[in-house]
Amino acid sequence: MKKAIIIGSGIAGMASAIRLKKIGYSVSVFESNSYPGGKLSDFRLNKFRFDAGPPLFTLPNLVDDLFILCGENPSDFFNYKKKEIACNYFWEDGVNLKAYSNQNKFINEVEIKLGVHKSIIKKYLEKAKEKYELVENIFLKKSLHDFSTYLTLDTLKALFKISKLEINNSLHDINSNQLKEKHLVQFYDRYATYNGSDPYKTPGIMSIIQHLESNFGTYVPIKGMNDITQSIYKLAKRQGIKFNFNTKVNEIIKDNKIVNGVIAGGKKYESDVVVSNVDIKLTYKYLLKDIPTPKHIQKAERSSSAIIFYWGISKQFNQLDLHNVLFSENYKMEFDYIFNKKDVPKDNTIYINITSKDVEGDAPKNCENWFVMINTPSDYGQNWDDLTKKLRSRVIKRINKILNCKLEDLIVEESIMTPPIIENKTKSFRGALYGQSSNSKFSAFLRHSNFSNNIKNLYFCGGSVHPGGGIPLCLMSAKIVEDLVNSKS
Ligand SMILES: Cc1cc2nc3c(=O)[nH]c(=O)nc-3n(C[C@H](O)[C@H](O)[C@H](O)COP(=O)(O)OP(=O)(O)OC[C@H]3O[C@@H](n4cnc5c(N)ncnc54)[C@H](O)[C@@H]3O)c2cc1C
Repeated sequence: MKKAIIIGSGIAGMASAIRLKKIGYSVSVFESNSYPGGKLSDFRLNKFRFDAGPPLFTLPNLVDDLFILCGENPSDFFNYKKKEIACNYFWEDGVNLKAYSNQNKFINEVEIKLGVHKSIIKKYLEKAKEKYELVENIFLKKSLHDFSTYLTLDTLKALFKISKLEINNSLHDINSNQLKEKHLVQFYDRYATYNGSDPYKTPGIMSIIQHLESNFGTYVPIKGMNDITQSIYKLAKRQGIKFNFNTKVNEIIKDNKIVNGVIAGGKKYESDVVVSNVDIKLTYKYLLKDIPTPKHIQKAERSSSAIIFYWGISKQFNQLDLHNVLFSENYKMEFDYIFNKKDVPKDNTIYINITSKDVEGDAPKNCENWFVMINTPSDYGQNWDDLTKKLRSRVIKRINKILNCKLEDLIVEESIMTPPIIENKTKSFRGALYGQSSNSKFSAFLRHSNFSNNIKNLYFCGGSVHPGGGIPLCLMSAKIVEDLVNSKS
C-alpha cells in the first residue's frame, strides 16, 4: 500500500488525510501540538467553555461530504442548526440591524431600518450570486496553477464575462456605488474581514462572500465549533488514520526531486506522498530549507490578525445573539491602521460571539461566554502588552455605551489571545488568521499552488495556500489535493 504523510492536523490536514485514505493510501498525521484542529480548538475557564478560533460556520455540507465519502451518515456523528438571525449589528447612532437568514425578511428589515428600497439590495445580491457562480468551479474547486484548469468551459465562460467580476474596483467602491446608504455600505464592506482583508483594497469580486452567507446561511454546530474538529478527528481515526501528536516535523526529505518522507523527532519516516498543512511561509523556511521561498510568497502581504478577549460574563444580554457586531465610526481609518500603519486602530469594530446562546452547558446559569474579537494587524513586533491593555479599556467603554451596562463588573473569567500567541499556538506566520490577505486583484493567482513545482509528490493544503483561508476554503483545498494526487502521483 502506498503511504502518505500529512504534516499538521488543522482542518485541511485532517480532511486531506481522510481523502487520501479513501483513494488507497495508508495515512499518518504528524502534529506538533498535543491536540488536533490547529486554529479550530477550544478550552475551558472554570465553568465556561470557549471556542478558541473561528466562530462563524458556513457551508456545513463540506464537512458532511467527508462522512458521506466514508460511507457514514453525517447526522449520526455531527449535527448543526441554521441560525435564523445570522448576525446582530449595532451602530453608535442607535441603528440596530438584524441580518435575517431569510432573504426577504432581511431585505424588509433594511427597508424599514435604513430606508433602502428592496430592489437595490435584490439587484446587489443577484450580482454577487452571478459572480459566485462564474468563479465557483475555477477559483475555488480546482487548482488555479494546474494547466488543465484553463482548458474547461467554465474557465472560458468566466474569462468571457470578466468585467462582471468587478476586479478593477474595490469592494468598498462597488458597495458605495450600488448601495449608497452608509450603514449598509459598512455592513457589506465588513465581509472583506471574512478572509482578513481590507474592503478599501480587496477587489469587488469579494462580494461572493456575502452571497455565501445570505444564500446558504450561517450555522452553529450543536456542540460548538470545536465539534467540527472533534467529529472529523474521530472520523479519521475510524478510517484507520494514525495521528502522532507532540511530534514536530523538522524536515521534508526528498531523493532526486521526488518526495521521500519526513524527519520528525529525529526519526525518518518514509512515504510516497507528503502533504504540508503548515503555513506555506514556514513550510519553506523550516521544512524545505534548501529550496528558496518563491518571490511572490516572500513578498505577500499577510491577512489581518486579532486580539481576542474570552470573558465569562455574570449576566445574560437579551439584545445579543450568537454573532454580534458593534461597528466603529470611521471604518476607513480602522483599516488604514490595520494594513498601512500596522497598528491597532483607536476606533474599533467589536465582534461579540456568545455560543452559550445556542450551545448547552457553555456557561453557568444566567451567565454568558463572550468571545470578543478586534481586528488588528498581524505581528510585526508591536508592543502587544501595551496595545492590549489600552484596547481592553476602550472596548469595555464602547460596549458599556452601546449596550448600556457596566461590563467591568460583570467579567468573572478572562483569557486573552494576541497575534504572537496565535502564531505560537498554530504556527501561523505573524499570527495572520487567514494566511495571505486578498487585498490585490491578483491575490487568487498569488497564493501558493496546492502542489510543488520543485518536488514531485509534495502537496500543500490549508488557509495559506489556494483557494485561501477560512474553514470552507480549507476543506476545498483538501479536495483539490485529493484530485491532484489522483492525477499526478
Ligand atoms: C481567531 C480566529 C478567528 C477566525 N475566524 C474564522 C471564522 O469565523 N470562520 C472561518 O471559516 N475561519 C475563521 N478563521 C480562519 C480558520 O480558523 C483557518 O483558516 C483554518 O482553521 C485554518 O486551518 P488549516 O487547515 O490551514 O490549519 P491550521 O489551523 O493553521 O493548523 C495547522 C496545524 O499544523 C501544525 N503544525 C505546524 N507546523 C508543524 C510542524 N512542523 N510539524 C507538525 N505540525 C505542525 C500546527 O500545530 C497546527 O495544528 C479564524 C481563525 C482564527 C485564529
